[in-house]
Amino acid sequence: MSEHPAPEQAHPKGSENHEPAHFIEQIIKDDLAAGKHAQIHTRFPPEPNGYLHIGHAKAICLSFGLAERYGGRVNLRFDDTNPEKENQEYVDAIRRDVSWLGYEWNGGEFYTSDYFDTLYGFAVQLIKGGHAYVDHLTPEEMAAGKGTPTQAGTNSPWRSRSSAESLQLFEEMKAGVHPDGHGVLRAKIDMAHPNMHMRDPVIYRVKRAHHHRTGDDWCIYPMYDFAHGQSDSIEGITHSLCTLEFEVHRPLYEWFIETLEIFPSRQIEFARLNLDHTVMSKRKLLRLVEEGVVDGWDDPRMPTISGLRRRGFTPESIRTFCDRVGIAKRENVIHFSLLEWALRDHLNRSANRAMAVLDPVKLVVTNYPEEQTEMLPSENNPEDPEAGSREMPFSKTLWMERDDFKEEANKKWFRLAPGKTVRLKSAYIIRYVDHVMDAEGRLQEVHVEYFPDSKSGSDTSGIKAKGTLHWVNAATAVDAEVRLYDRLFSDPTPDGHADRDFTEFLNPDSLEIKTACKLEPSLAQADASRPYQFTRLGYFVLDEKRTAETGTPVWNRSVTLKDGWKG
Ligand code: ATP
Ligand code: MG
Repeated sequence: MSEHPAPEQAHPKGSENHEPAHFIEQIIKDDLAAGKHAQIHTRFPPEPNGYLHIGHAKAICLSFGLAERYGGRVNLRFDDTNPEKENQEYVDAIRRDVSWLGYEWNGGEFYTSDYFDTLYGFAVQLIKGGHAYVDHLTPEEMAAGKGTPTQAGTNSPWRSRSSAESLQLFEEMKAGVHPDGHGVLRAKIDMAHPNMHMRDPVIYRVKRAHHHRTGDDWCIYPMYDFAHGQSDSIEGITHSLCTLEFEVHRPLYEWFIETLEIFPSRQIEFARLNLDHTVMSKRKLLRLVEEGVVDGWDDPRMPTISGLRRRGFTPESIRTFCDRVGIAKRENVIHFSLLEWALRDHLNRSANRAMAVLDPVKLVVTNYPEEQTEMLPSENNPEDPEAGSREMPFSKTLWMERDDFKEEANKKWFRLAPGKTVRLKSAYIIRYVDHVMDAEGRLQEVHVEYFPDSKSGSDTSGIKAKGTLHWVNAATAVDAEVRLYDRLFSDPTPDGHADRDFTEFLNPDSLEIKTACKLEPSLAQADASRPYQFTRLGYFVLDEKRTAETGTPVWNRSVTLKDGWKG
């Protein structure tokens, strides 16, 4: 696995001399230089029908990041036009996740549902101007009438009805006179338009559904395409940044802007983020949650922001990742390992070190005084002198890692084995004496002797030890469960197989639970806001949710120390 390049320096805010990092930033710079806008105004418009994922983080970092750098404003807008799938839990989770990433919606928080009256007014305006009509075709008839990309569609027989008649019917639809599905409002554009989205799209439908904010006030709801662009205009969004799938919708949004004579927000599209070994659509993530494949939206294996947070990812690492991924017009797939690199890069600088033994075996220091315990200082973070140090208790009986011992070892084995000498991290050099196996041939204890004059920091022993092992003092150890994670899917593109369901590619080994782990005592005070590097094992964070559920501390491995992924 190749090393990922170091991240760029953070860009100074509002810097006029800043070299644009991508084409969207270039457009913004040019627009500001040309005096087109006094201030830019962007927005992030999630639909509250699921939790945010790392793909959304890319969109968030883009829209919030640009507003931040160019002294602009950014709105958080909940695009809630689809009452059946949306709810308050999702709204709350989205707000929490955007804040956690470190962003503030300084332009305000809005809901498309706040504009239902205005949008209704826009629809009436279109009808009155002869630009929309109420249609009664069945969905099948309407689909057949749309034509194909190479063949023009046919006009609905209702297309030529009078504005007055459409207006009356539309008012009746709003008043609840008509049953669900009885009529729709369609924009009257061009049934032969080369862009299928321009062939008289449906803009309103009758639907008796309870809305999470407007309750039962409405029984007609605008279609996403009729709500999204106009919401940008209502809010005075100057640069409306979205993913490429909306490119083909842009002519329709521009048609609405021109026909309604409203604020001309400019939409600019960029490629969505795709990450290997995972799925990114909320619909698919919801299935994993509903089918109990994962422990909720915030399962540490999920690509959701809340899952990554619970896994131990930091806002800094996610922002660095988004920066590295960049903004372009072309779709590609980013390796999950880039995300892991970004986390290591941040935690190596910021996380305190600690010692934990995941698969413990007794290590008895035969020549150490029976009743003695001494406190040995250990540096918290060699990368950060200000992090200070802590005192580690050391005594005759310790825990060591089972796989740090071998009965037979060659010259390249720098851990414990008959005849071997190693250093215990921040403590003494020890030499093998003997070991105890049980009847099944499983290692029970390793006995060693220590060299009193080899203490770390004041070693006068002159003994060379090639390997350094981590350890935990047995009497003061904290018992814990530790969870090790692997990719959620074993296939790099689980939803890229036309004839197979993505759940067929779930990795059966994505979660490994270690139950009898031993942690150094300082970790008893840990909380989820502080990630740690466990010496030789990786970066870990306390899982507060599982800990509360189980009553014993549960720790998640966020990432290993090195990129060990082969595939
Ligand atoms: P999903 O397909 O996961 O349900 P969505 O596009 O339906 O996502 P929205 O809530 O509508 O989700 O998205 C809000 C914003 O986030 C949109 O502007 C969308 O373009 C952007 N976005 C969604 N997914 C990605 C992604 N993978 N990469 C970059 N931006 C994304
Ligand atoms: Mg969507």
